[in-house]
Amino acid sequence: MQNRWNDEQAATCSGLLDECVYASRLLGADTALVLHGGGNTSVKIPERDLYGDAVDVLYVKASGYDMVDIDVDGFSPLVLDRVNKLVELSELSDTAMLNELRGALLSAEAPTPSVEAILHAVVPNRAVMHAHPNALLAISNTVGGEAKVRDLYGNRVVVVPYAMSGFKAASAAARAYQAEATDTTEAVVLMNHGVFTFGDTPREAYHRMVDIVTKAEAFLADNGHNGRSPIPAAGPQPVDRLELARLRKDISEAAGTPCIVRRHTDEFSWAFSQRPDLGAVSQQGVATPDHVIWTKRVPLLGRDVATYAKDYQAYFDEYSVGRSLQMLDPAPRVVLDPKFGMVTAGPDVHAEQAAADIYKQIIDVIEKAEGVGGYSALPASDIFDLEYWELEQSKLGRARDEGEFTGEVAVVTGANSGIGRGCALALLERGAAVIGLDINPNVDDMTDSPAYLGVPCDLSSLEETAAALDVGVERFGGVDMLVAAAGLFPESSPISAHDPAAWRRAMAVNVDGMVQLLSLMHPLLLHAPSGGRVAVIGSKNVAAPGPGASAYSASKTAANQIARVAALEWAKDGIRVNSVHPDAVFDTALWTPELLAERAERYGMTIEEYKRRNLMGVEITSAAVGEVVATMLGDIFYPITGAHIPIDGGNERVI
Ligand SMILES: [Zn+2]
Repeated sequence: MQNRWNDEQAATCSGLLDECVYASRLLGADTALVLHGGGNTSVKIPERDLYGDAVDVLYVKASGYDMVDIDVDGFSPLVLDRVNKLVELSELSDTAMLNELRGALLSAEAPTPSVEAILHAVVPNRAVMHAHPNALLAISNTVGGEAKVRDLYGNRVVVVPYAMSGFKAASAAARAYQAEATDTTEAVVLMNHGVFTFGDTPREAYHRMVDIVTKAEAFLADNGHNGRSPIPAAGPQPVDRLELARLRKDISEAAGTPCIVRRHTDEFSWAFSQRPDLGAVSQQGVATPDHVIWTKRVPLLGRDVATYAKDYQAYFDEYSVGRSLQMLDPAPRVVLDPKFGMVTAGPDVHAEQAAADIYKQIIDVIEKAEGVGGYSALPASDIFDLEYWELEQSKLGRARDEGEFTGEVAVVTGANSGIGRGCALALLERGAAVIGLDINPNVDDMTDSPAYLGVPCDLSSLEETAAALDVGVERFGGVDMLVAAAGLFPESSPISAHDPAAWRRAMAVNVDGMVQLLSLMHPLLLHAPSGGRVAVIGSKNVAAPGPGASAYSASKTAANQIARVAALEWAKDGIRVNSVHPDAVFDTALWTPELLAERAERYGMTIEEYKRRNLMGVEITSAAVGEVVATMLGDIFYPITGAHIPIDGGNERVI
């Protein structure tokens, strides 16, 4: 384990809690130790309460905070004595424990403390750190793992057999510590879960963590294991994007909600997916029960989602007997397929990423364990108990923080600027993942949202457009919505000065590009779990052309006809195709300040007047067009296809 401690940086900390924040971030930065809110830390600080009385305060990491970027407000201040008393109880539900912990807070506004607070309280040392290191999980997930851990650390650690997270694990560990700890004890190892290290300062607790983890890594290395599957001779091959879209549709249907699905082609997960013993090593279960929340107990081998769902139902029926539990959706979160390699899924981009990040750690643990006796996970009943933990079940009733399009994917052309950008941002705001296509090579820089992928592409080229869709579908799994916003606005020129090259360019992008794009999108939209939707960005010029704009007006009108035909052809497929016709949207790449000034002058107006020269006297922005388009793609428009909506503030020639 890399020791990331830097004494100079640590010296700038303003006190014990600040040093604990610093140490927590170091732990959080190591994905082989903690992931997605896992692990926790604490410090004990003597303080005075409002009345001036001495009180020992346990600052423990709150649940739901990620250590990698935690701050002091991610720590809950608890009255140490009250938490300590909880260990005297032989039984307590986790809901009741959390209630007690909240009651022991010194601040009513503080976030809910970690469910492992009891162990933090019982250990007398001032600083405690807890992580789930892969190396230790690998050793504990083998036959005879407990004996190996005891041999490895001797009297430096207290070893506690696996117990369910929450009161059971925290109180079992606290009692084992009270019974067995000696002057030489530096850590408590919870089998199949993780390790707690302690010290008089966060520095000491952190360094003990480094020691304990490094020793486990050395044990794995001494046993001749390099922790990796052999790299297969043949790497991952491109797959048909429709096959991926079909898999996404199956997963979404099983999940009962559209899902984000991602194919991973990195060497590490590919090598694992090609193991000849994949069934034996991958079907035992996760490396620590906490993982189950994101990855489910086992991955789907192959692509038969229906059978996976049936097996999940059987697993639920078997372990829920006599308990009143609400079954979770039976869709897989991880797919291991000989042709696709690893594919991960989730009802939103974050859940998909968590499944991917966590499954990669599980692969690491499995491969390490295979080197020291063979991977042997906890029985399914233990994993089920965590999956259906009362604290997890109680979250189900609460409304998820999600947008209208969460789990759905939109392709937006011309996404780098202007109306395309306005549409992409409006869709991201409503929870969609967006694949932005644009001729601008910087299209991926439009936003750093993980729900956005920009792919540079020339839409007049069929091959480039198809290749860009391949990249987008590998990332998000399919496409539900299309916003065709890319367009070329050639320089004004009268018909008498017809420029064949400029004409052809406008036709290539605005007409050929449109029909190619729609033709490529149709089979993908057919696989949209909630039905495909298309928004075509037309122009005021379709109804009201302008002098000097023959190429633009004719090409936009042709594109408009293509959209109308698509609406006719695709209605039977449940795909809606609607158009908007914006006018005078000036915050686009087309409109430079110089051009705006020149036009305003030509009409004898100020720039402000020129921008609002419509019946309503309103300014029309890209963001406003984006809002209308997003609304059109939503459920409100379910009975509408083939519609043409002007977004122009009212124009006599159009009305
Ligand atoms: Zn833990």
